[in-house]
Amino acid sequence: MSYTDLDKWIKEYPLLEKIINLQTVVWINESRAKMNEINSLPVNKNDLHDAEKLWQKFAPYLSKVFPETKSTNGIIESPLKEIMHFKKLYSEVEKTKIEGRLFLKCDNELPVAGSIKARGGFYEVLHFALQLALENNLLNKDDNYEKLADEKCKALFEQYTIGVGSTGNLGLSIGIMSKKLGFKVCVYMSADAKEWKKNLLRSKGAIVKKFSGDFSEAIDAGRRITLADPKGYFVDDENSKYLYLGYSVAAIRLKKQLDELKININATHPLFVYSPCGVGGSPGGIAFGLRQVFGDNAHCFFVEPTHSPSVLIGLLTNRMQKISVHDFGIDNITDADGLAVGRPSAFASSISKLLISGIYTIEDNELFGLLYLLGKSENIFVEPSATAGLIGAKIIAQTNYLQKHHINSANITHIAWATGGGLVPENEMNDFYTKGEKLFAHKE
Ligand SMILES: *Cc1c(COP(=O)(O)O)cnc(C)c1O
Repeated sequence: MSYTDLDKWIKEYPLLEKIINLQTVVWINESRAKMNEINSLPVNKNDLHDAEKLWQKFAPYLSKVFPETKSTNGIIESPLKEIMHFKKLYSEVEKTKIEGRLFLKCDNELPVAGSIKARGGFYEVLHFALQLALENNLLNKDDNYEKLADEKCKALFEQYTIGVGSTGNLGLSIGIMSKKLGFKVCVYMSADAKEWKKNLLRSKGAIVKKFSGDFSEAIDAGRRITLADPKGYFVDDENSKYLYLGYSVAAIRLKKQLDELKININATHPLFVYSPCGVGGSPGGIAFGLRQVFGDNAHCFFVEPTHSPSVLIGLLTNRMQKISVHDFGIDNITDADGLAVGRPSAFASSISKLLISGIYTIEDNELFGLLYLLGKSENIFVEPSATAGLIGAKIIAQTNYLQKHHINSANITHIAWATGGGLVPENEMNDFYTKGEKLFAHKE
């Protein structure tokens, strides 16, 4: 894009100037609609509940093949933890006050995949396996889906190849689940994908193909090669309804966890959720679920790195997947695994435009600082991207969002969604922690 074009864009969307200059911004979505104003979406409440039922049907299979899920009877879910010590330490260090209660949704503890991708990724692969088994009469709808582990099913799945483009975590989740079912799997990795993630995938029997470019390049190549194979199935992070629905079920489970804590979400006691965002699929699916479950009392915010504000630019300009951060000269280089995405998901973006409250951006250094503070105060260790939601309460309190919605900040339940970190090797995690510690050395 030439400079004169950029001037025109900035004139139309003034916030773009700061975004292009890599400054942190907060964007409040003026297109957020009330649930009763929304006529139709590409997915609806029935889809959400069907997905939840299907997860339950998959549980006996999961419990059988992944012993670590036996204790939860094959339900793959993460704890919701109140992080009072973090809240206290952060307030001291930042000389600020966070109003309301602050929780961490610990998807870094999700079994098997150690990241939020266990929700969407597992669901899509299981869904595809189920369709194949049904079509080939190896299974009836009313059967116990534990049968997916039968040798006959495995022999069928072995004929198929699952492909996926990934910056790391999606590849891990798709790779692990596909191999367990018996599929061949090929993961198309962007240049920024970590070495240990590739090695772990190879050790599970997945084929890893590396690309010199970013996520868009990896996903384009992966899509082309996989779909050229008549027995290829591509998990398309830029377009997938099944990933989306797999994520969305988290909202129903979260409602149960809040009920157990006797936290009742209503107009005077709203829920604020802050989710790290890459293509916008996982935060989008979860926001969709939350708006279905809690209606207008769920306020969902996405967080992106200043160097990868893809969904922000897509929604702000309404160009959605038609525009990339590269069009504005933004480099899409970040240490936040999973968030190094230049172009938003087509499927998720149109829905997010109606459902979410806004997006803020964050610098990489701040992610490491938060990782350190969370580790130090709560003994919880997540990957850098997964910390992005921790400053949400502070960021939104600085806007006029609460006044506009007549919300008393003391009544808010804040949830920072910790999206990953469970599989990060100890030495890497130590490096992250030390890096964060150094950044805070001058403040303490
Ligand atoms: C994938 C991922 C995200 C973002 O999910 P999208 O669907 O790409 O928006 C956030 N955090 C982590 C750790 C991830 O792996």
